[in-house]
Amino acid sequence: MSRGRPLLVAVAGLGFAGVCLADPLAARREYVMGTIAEVRVHAVDPGVDPEQATEAAMAEIHAVDRLMAVQRPDSDVSRVNRGAATRAVSVDHRVVEVLRASRHLSALTDGAFDVTVLPTVRAWGFLDGHPRRPADAPRPAGYRHVRVDAVRDEVAFDRADVGVDLGGIAKGYALDRARTAMLERGVRSAYLDLGGNVATLGLAPDGRPWRLGVRHPRRPDMLIGVLEVGEASVSTSGDAERFVEDEYGRAGHVIDPRTGRPADALVSATVVAASAMLADGLSTAAVVMGRDAFADLLPRVGGRAVLVALEPGGRAVSWVSPGLRFDVTDLAPAAAEPPFNH
Ligand code: ADP
Ligand code: MG
Repeated sequence: MSRGRPLLVAVAGLGFAGVCLADPLAARREYVMGTIAEVRVHAVDPGVDPEQATEAAMAEIHAVDRLMAVQRPDSDVSRVNRGAATRAVSVDHRVVEVLRASRHLSALTDGAFDVTVLPTVRAWGFLDGHPRRPADAPRPAGYRHVRVDAVRDEVAFDRADVGVDLGGIAKGYALDRARTAMLERGVRSAYLDLGGNVATLGLAPDGRPWRLGVRHPRRPDMLIGVLEVGEASVSTSGDAERFVEDEYGRAGHVIDPRTGRPADALVSATVVAASAMLADGLSTAAVVMGRDAFADLLPRVGGRAVLVALEPGGRAVSWVSPGLRFDVTDLAPAAAEPPFNH
């Protein structure tokens, strides 16, 4: 349950074990949004205070947490969940932005991404820190039952059993805001990590692309490969961090909205997309959709991915988007098959 090792790790040079990036000008690590946030500033414009920039970035993340955490009774999302079935509830515009993006993602993914998973996520104990297989869990009501008024900044549900959980997208949104805050303050190079979501600003301190190690979903001490990206947004989802494990196997915290049960099409999905919010939402959707359907979707959303499935014997088999710079470090031979094209 505890989030020890990050799913994506910054690596330097050609190797990865124990090699760290150059010392940053300023860095912060804080517990927020149920995970660890890390912000590192590597280069700034003349006269810019890197400490102040990291503070501004962290402040954006904390603000999103206060608005969107379902664990906080006073968050906008909690107020919506308590009241929106009986009346329109006023919310901060940031909540409207994320709900609208969520709806867009739901349409793109044919409902695989659906923020109305709250009652199911709760029944599985993923919110109270004690994941357990429930005897019976409610199915999500469906995203179409959430009405968002983007002019008045109001949210209403048209059914009583709707509950919204932005856990699959809010961290990405928070990272986008944090990165923008740094950009506006004159930061030239920075690395932001929020529990499996990474946003980079500019190039790495050595002037080269950032190298991100993608953790093996079952062997925390190993990477399945290293991704090279410029200024980018990358998100990993899967069942490596929050899950129930019992005689029926492992069940992760991504829910298949069609069945109301944990999705198991992929054990890990790493997505590179145009924004951290999109990468976050898409990586969650990928776990529901599985390799073929998600690979079909990728070109339409301008994303790229590394998708990992487990074979019955427990071997990890990866599929890598054409055009993605990904060095395989430990893969089953099947992964060497040519990427599947369109
Ligand atoms: P992490 O929180 O580990 O970064 P994800 O981004 O994949 O992982 O988000 C998982 C969270 O998203 C769950 O804990 C739950 O809050 C929410 N969620 C679960 N299933 C779905 C789904 N099908 N669509 C949208 N959100 C989901
Ligand atoms: Mg996500």
